[in-house]
Amino acid sequence: MSDDAKREGLLPCPFCGGEAAYLRNEECDDKGEPSENYGGEWVECSKCHACTNIRFPLKEPVKPLLAEQWNRRAAPVSVRDAAQPSEKK
Ligand SMILES: [Zn+2]
Repeated sequence: MSDDAKREGLLPCPFCGGEAAYLRNEECDDKGEPSENYGGEWVECSKCHACTNIRFPLKEPVKPLLAEQWNRRAAPVSVRDAAQPSEKK
């Protein structure tokens, strides 16, 4: 996989501006059995290691979901506040 494919559609980290990439859990336990989170995928910042939830590709690829989750977090705070006007009454 090329570097471009690893961060396809991902915005820079909202915390440090670092590069985000898709990661995949391929850990095995001491007996060589796949670990609990084996096959799970998530997005993580290469600098500060901020990350999304882990998701498991069962029927569909999860990268679009992960990208959506990551990019929503990456949206500027001011945009989010504007979408949810606070009412104190
Ligand atoms: Zn970061």
